[in-house]
Amino acid sequence: MTSESLKFFADVMLGRLARWLRILGYDVAYEPSILDDDLIAMAIHEHRIILTMDRKLTERESAKNSLLIKSPSYKEQLRQIITHYNIDCRPGIFTRCLVCNRLLDPIEKDKIKDRVPPYVYSTQDKFDICRQCQRTYWSGTHRAKMLKLLDEVFN
Ligand SMILES: [Zn+2]
Repeated sequence: MTSESLKFFADVMLGRLARWLRILGYDVAYEPSILDDDLIAMAIHEHRIILTMDRKLTERESAKNSLLIKSPSYKEQLRQIITHYNIDCRPGIFTRCLVCNRLLDPIEKDKIKDRVPPYVYSTQDKFDICRQCQRTYWSGTHRAKMLKLLDEVFN
């Protein structure tokens, strides 16, 4: 499975999982204050798989395209999804804004000089930007830590 073929809607309990799926490049809607009925309607409209820990919700006829998440641990949750959908994790990694869920665009280094710390600017060459929130992304220790955790989850 590639990150283009699966889209998710994470329910209010699954914010951390939503963030990790975005790190992997998956399109994950997350609206903490949405009502169940609206969540289901949006998921159907946008062809999203509902991820929820609420068994009652998954038993609703209209929410058939859903996965009941079993563990409260986000690592176990990630593992469950990866196994369940046979996900190939690496192709889309670090391609999506973790805040807006929007795909990132590459941006030239000289255009972000005033947006990143001087140390980062002098040690990194590749930068991406979210055109929605203007957040800038680059490789660094935070990503190394994420990769380390993902290794743990995948192995
Ligand atoms: Zn953003």
